[in-house]
Amino acid sequence: MIDIAIVGGGPAAYTAAIFAGRAGLNTIVYESELIAGKITSIPQIENYPGFPEGISGEELSDRLHKQAEKFGVDTVYNEVKEIRLNGKYKEILIDSGETIKAKAVILAMGETARKLGCPGEGKFLGKGVSYCAICDGAFFKGKNVAVIGGGDAALSSALYLCRLVKKLYLIHRRNDLRAIKILQDKLKQQCEKGELVLNHEVKEIQGKKFVNGILVQNKETEEVNRIDVDGVFIYIGSEPNTKIVREIVKVDEQGYIVTNEKMETSCPGIYAAGDVRKKDLRQLITAAADGAIAAFQARRYIEMYY
Ligand code: NAP
Repeated sequence: MIDIAIVGGGPAAYTAAIFAGRAGLNTIVYESELIAGKITSIPQIENYPGFPEGISGEELSDRLHKQAEKFGVDTVYNEVKEIRLNGKYKEILIDSGETIKAKAVILAMGETARKLGCPGEGKFLGKGVSYCAICDGAFFKGKNVAVIGGGDAALSSALYLCRLVKKLYLIHRRNDLRAIKILQDKLKQQCEKGELVLNHEVKEIQGKKFVNGILVQNKETEEVNRIDVDGVFIYIGSEPNTKIVREIVKVDEQGYIVTNEKMETSCPGIYAAGDVRKKDLRQLITAAADGAIAAFQARRYIEMYY
């Protein structure tokens, strides 16, 4: 029996862990590869307060883990398969077959990269197709790559890759990029090897053993062209990792967990924090804030009902 089970591995999960641990609650974080938190794939975080020089996602994640550990929180690296309600307790079933009873649960499973769904995407995963520039960028030193997407993630990853590759194509389905202006300006100023391919959709990722090109279609003329690339980095947004909880907490039409401002879900004793939650601003700072609130409210809940 533990006080709080936290499911997740990103800044929401670990901020909740720091607050819960520091409040003296017996807390375990359940982290799996799937929900390790997309923070580790961000090359440089520039908008987290207190880091004027910026900080890499990996380093910040490492620091969060250490800080939670300092307050006595354990991390179990295992996937949560199911959460069951058993009276006022919650049962957490993990991949190893073990079941843990918790008084309160904080859901912070984040999101997973959305897939393009075109031919070749699955076939060449790890053979030229990647969803993480910081993890795989080094394999493409001196080579040609395409980054797919027009949001902040696509542009910040393009900026990172630009330093490594020979040529970079940024392919976006519309004429306007969604990313904030500062990133658009930086790409123009700092990425001479970059070429914008706007209003184009990726139709196929081609190759033999490894990727050697993509077919893109001009949305206006419908003309299809091939671009020779060795790598394809896909950054077209994300989907919430809420499959295991959709039967026990209320989610919106896209699967994000609905909470109030106390991070309470529709199920008493279960809280949600970070990108997994229905919200307007999915950023590191809001994820951390959610985590702190969820832990605070979970503590109150435990004090009141146990
Ligand atoms: P996003 O803002 O939702 O952008 C996704 C991009 O992919 C959009 O340009 C979208 O096109 C495109 N897209 C979506 N589905 C597509 C499809 N099926 N085929 C082709 N293109 C598709 O997602 P994100 O860039 O991952 O960012 C998510 C959140 O994290 C945002 O709040 C962002 O600010 C934050 N973030 C911030 C930073 C930073 O450096 N501060 C870095 C990474 C992420 P449309 O524009 O046409 O919809």
